[in-house]
Amino acid sequence: SPTDALHTVVLIPGDGIGPEISEAVKKVFAAARVPIQWEEHLISTKNVVPGQDLIPSTALDAIRRHGYGIKGPLETPIGKGHKSLNLTLRQALGLYANVRPCRTVPGIRTKFDHVDVVTIRENTEGEYVGLEHEVVPGVVESLKVITRSASERGARFAFEFARQNKRRRVTAVHKASVLKLSDGMFLECCRRTAKEYPDIEFREALIELCCGYLISQPQRYDVLVLTNLAGDIVSDLAAGLVGGLGLTASLNKGEHTVLAEAVHGTAPDIAGKDLANPTALLLSAVMMLREMNLHDHADRIERAIYTVIKEGKNLTGDLGGKARCSEYTRAIIDKL
Ligand code: NAD
Repeated sequence: SPTDALHTVVLIPGDGIGPEISEAVKKVFAAARVPIQWEEHLISTKNVVPGQDLIPSTALDAIRRHGYGIKGPLETPIGKGHKSLNLTLRQALGLYANVRPCRTVPGIRTKFDHVDVVTIRENTEGEYVGLEHEVVPGVVESLKVITRSASERGARFAFEFARQNKRRRVTAVHKASVLKLSDGMFLECCRRTAKEYPDIEFREALIELCCGYLISQPQRYDVLVLTNLAGDIVSDLAAGLVGGLGLTASLNKGEHTVLAEAVHGTAPDIAGKDLANPTALLLSAVMMLREMNLHDHADRIERAIYTVIKEGKNLTGDLGGKARCSEYTRAIIDKL
């Protein structure tokens, strides 16, 4: 049957604005006749039952089986409650690297022109192993775990990414001056891996200096490779340079699995009002299409998105416009 040729992609709409922006992705993909079919799984903080798995095994199995997924934002309780569902997903699926391209978008006015930075974040360990305990009342300990294997894997991913995407330079961002053992080992792994990639320039930067330069001379940087918490922070900073979280794409990669996800949250203030900007999820989905070798579809959709943004007539509120999510989506479909 004709559907035999279709790839199946698992769709997790998520909480808050998740269902609205997921709907936009489905509509744009249908209009572009992308040869995929969706398998939807409802993962939500609201469905978490104490004592049961945070994420249903049916959803995890589906992503493992099909290899590709797209995820909207998931609500995460702050300071208490269950473990983050995002973290659980990344760990359960072995999504060891997070890639975030932050490039100047024509039509979006920001402080700098020509920013083109990609952050590669080690996604599985560091401070996010979630090993915290209260030693005595008023004193807590939190462990940062760095392993040679995960650091080497992250570093190799960054250099391979640079080579495949014709980037010139990889900068390892660290705090090895203070965290001599943990960040020290991460840095040593980056240095050693760099020797295998003589075609890519290698540099090192202390994290605070890197942040200072990012907001004063962002053109200094090309590909950044970072540990988990540092990558989380610096990737949002880089997104802010090019127009914010509503615009930046993100992809999580494992050995056999790809999960595209918007990096912004559930935007509870505008959820359910048809006001969200679906661009971040759309561009993440475009990154996934490239992983599937559907380059023509990816290019067409990306061009349509950037044309609508450049024209500036149908922008959502976060970009200074008045269009609804559905109107912006319609404008992209018209371009297609
Ligand atoms: P948020 O990103 O949801 O919202 C911050 C601000 O940005 C809000 O004013 C919001 O309206 C706006 N915004 C975000 N995305 C937008 C979009 N696509 N279009 C237009 N405006 C957008 O951050 P928050 O308020 O700190 O977090 C809300 C919830 O989301 C929390 O429960 C948090 O844990 C969760 N969260 C989830 C993820 C994820 O699933 N990857 C990431 C970050 C936060």
